[in-house]
Amino acid sequence: MKALRYVAVGQAPEVVEIPIPKPGPGQVLLKVTAGGVCHSDDFVMGLPEKEYLEQGYPLPMTLGHEGAGIVHELGEGVDSTLKVGDAVAVYGPWGCGRCHNCSMGMENYCTNAAAEGIRPPGLGSQGSMAEYMIVDDARHLVPLDGLDPVKNVSLTDAGLTPYHAIKRSLPKLGAGTFAVVIGTGGLGHVGIQILKALSGATIIALDVSDEKLELATHVGADHVIISDAAAAEKIRDLTNGLGVNAVFDFVGATPTMALAQSIAALDSDVTIVGIGGGSMTLGFGAIAYDAAVRIPYWGSRSELIEVLDLARAGKIDVEIQTYSLDDGPQAYEALAASTIRGRAVIVP
Ligand code: NAD
Ligand code: ZN
Ligand code: ZN
Repeated sequence: MKALRYVAVGQAPEVVEIPIPKPGPGQVLLKVTAGGVCHSDDFVMGLPEKEYLEQGYPLPMTLGHEGAGIVHELGEGVDSTLKVGDAVAVYGPWGCGRCHNCSMGMENYCTNAAAEGIRPPGLGSQGSMAEYMIVDDARHLVPLDGLDPVKNVSLTDAGLTPYHAIKRSLPKLGAGTFAVVIGTGGLGHVGIQILKALSGATIIALDVSDEKLELATHVGADHVIISDAAAAEKIRDLTNGLGVNAVFDFVGATPTMALAQSIAALDSDVTIVGIGGGSMTLGFGAIAYDAAVRIPYWGSRSELIEVLDLARAGKIDVEIQTYSLDDGPQAYEALAASTIRGRAVIVP
């Protein structure tokens, strides 16, 4: 089969021919229908060799932590209602399934995964950008129930991650409030739609180009602002000087985090989702009183089911650009050049 793999540190991913894997006991083999391209892949491929290997990433590694497919073969002893032929989405933040957090469906916060070497597909295990993929356990599959896999595969991360981040701030986002989304790419453009569907907040979106801001308006942002040194003042004006009740920073670089910190209202939430290498210094006077700063990771299995329900209800719609597996390397070039509108999806 063909697979898009990261083969050597510092080099672009390559399409290679490898054998179709066999599902081991308890595993499921999927015939992949779609795999989404995330900026985190770019982050991982940007790690220096020492860090890459120390953090337990294999070489070669098939990319893709957003996956959807058709159940092709069940490994020995798979105890599930899943049948060969079922269309499913992959819940990516794999955990042990036994710890307290996993038992709550929050495998993204598994307390055993690191020690037991359990890694998400495409982020340590072999991922979805291939004709077939192994899923380590049937509980990591969620039925698509009629959703188009290509259109919706990115909900497994670009939907689930903002959903998890936003859901925790909903008590602060009633009518008359303001929410800011920084970075309206893959995650951000879905985040705007989730805010629109679930909250009463007026949504202010920031990005660095007019094309990205046009997408933000298209998916429901009430105001769009170029992300530069003048942005904070514009946001203060829009909010009568009070600042905003929640900021979701899908960039996470020091300048965007500084902006987020400076526009946070009293008792607001500042949520840093982007892995842009930034940091902030907190203390009295550095941020509004009772503002809370969070660094979330991905989301829970039940939240994935909720995100898919939102899509089925027609309340969120991922903007996609599709690529074949052979053209996969070009999808990563476009991601790095920031020219993708919404999300790039590889269709094997
Ligand atoms: P993307 O490339 O699709 O989107 C990023 C957007 O940010 C682009 O539209 C870009 O133009 C914009 N941007 C860049 N610099 C900016 C600035 N200074 N101000 C405003 N906008 C700016 O990326 P994505 O796949 O949506 O991922 C976003 C970030 O979230 C990445 O850092 C990724 O690694 C991270 N991520 C985190 C989690 C998590 O669990 N915490 C999960 C998935 C992705
Ligand atoms: Zn991701
Ligand atoms: Zn666990």
